[in-house]
Amino acid sequence: MQQNSKKRETPVKYNLTEKDIKKICSIYHISELEIKKLNDFGLLNTELLKHEVIRQDYKNIKLAVKDRPEFSEESVLLALKREHHIQSTAEVRNIVNDSTNKNMIFCKHCGTRISLKLAKTTGGYCNDCMSEQIKL
Ligand SMILES: [Zn+2]
Repeated sequence: MQQNSKKRETPVKYNLTEKDIKKICSIYHISELEIKKLNDFGLLNTELLKHEVIRQDYKNIKLAVKDRPEFSEESVLLALKREHHIQSTAEVRNIVNDSTNKNMIFCKHCGTRISLKLAKTTGGYCNDCMSEQIKL
């Protein structure tokens, strides 16, 4: 028998790994200790957080492979599927595309997700990166 710490009755769809927790800390700028405490108490929306981590991973991978056409979209989704123990790449795709904006565009410089409209205006950069070009 596996030693499972069943602190709460509510089923948790996702278990956050140490790696996930570290990523959540950097996404939300919350200390690891606090996240861990909340997680131990079962107070976190693990599904939402897991999805955020997956979206963040996707963003980072896409940025890392943007000049590497040998890495197909499918291979990126497979990597995420494996890493996060998701059943299918279709599910990963749904998580990643879970946005009102179907056109997933990422800033060429920092990787932040931006709208298609903004990308067209700025040539693919987010407002933050654009603002850095304004010298005062
Ligand atoms: Zn940017």
